[in-house]
Formats: sequence, structure tokens, C-alpha cells
Amino acid sequence: MADCIFCKIIDKKIPSKFVYEDDLVVAFEDINPQSPVHTLIIPKKHIPTMLDMQEEDYQVIAHLFKVANKIAREKGIADRGFRLLTNCNPEGGQIVYHLHFHLMGGRQMRSPFG
Ligand code: AMP
Ligand code: ZN
Repeated sequence: MADCIFCKIIDKKIPSKFVYEDDLVVAFEDINPQSPVHTLIIPKKHIPTMLDMQEEDYQVIAHLFKVANKIAREKGIADRGFRLLTNCNPEGGQIVYHLHFHLMGGRQMRSPFG
């Protein structure tokens, strides 16, 4: 999608620190990290929010979880623990409308959220 910042990152039209790429998903470092590890994992397909997922998209997100496992292990946060989250729509705190998952770790996460 032309005016989507994450589509531009996928197309390498704007720079980012790539962590992982395959046919279905990419991962790159969040530009404004909120924890020592803060990586964004996104489907290559432009899906604005999780509410916009079509039937065929669910298997892409299952694959994305597999990639999240791999990255968490590679970054050394798997055993200590981490958080994988997606924000949806304004009250969910979503700012970028291309579905993405925040992989966060390297410090104690707190609940409740927000
Ligand atoms: P959300 O509030 O879930 O929509 O989060 C959007 C995230 O995208 C924020 O954590 C931003 O710091 C991050 N972000 C925005 N622009 C970029 C960019 N060009 N490169 C990497 N991360 C970005
Ligand atoms: Zn997009």
C-alpha cells in the first residue's frame, strides 16, 4: 500500500534494521524501543488491523508466531521471558495501520498493561 510506512520498510524504500525476512513475514527493530529487545514482526501482506484478517491470513500469523519463537531464542530472551503483543484500533493504542506484533523483552514486563 503506497502510503503505508511498514509497506515501505518491506519494499526497502525507507531504511530499517532488519532482523529476519522470508516470503511471508519480516522483522525489524522498533525505531523507538520500549525495552532492551523491541522487535516488530509483520506480515508482508498489507492487513490494516487484526480485524481485517481474511481466512487465508490466519496461517500467515501462525507462521509469524514461529518466527517470533526463533527471534526470541536468538536474542536470548526466551527463557527469561518476553511479551508478544498487537494493538488494535485507537483505544488499543494502534498507531501504524499495518498489522504488527511487538516482541519485547530484556526487562521485567508489568501488568496490567498500559
Ligand atoms: P503501534 O502503536 O502498535 O501501532 O506501534 C507502532 C510502532 O511502530 C511503534 O512502536 C513505533 O515506534 C514503531 N515505528 C514507527 N515507525 C517506525 C519505523 N520507521 N521503523 C521502525 N519502527 C517504527
Ligand atoms: Zn502496509
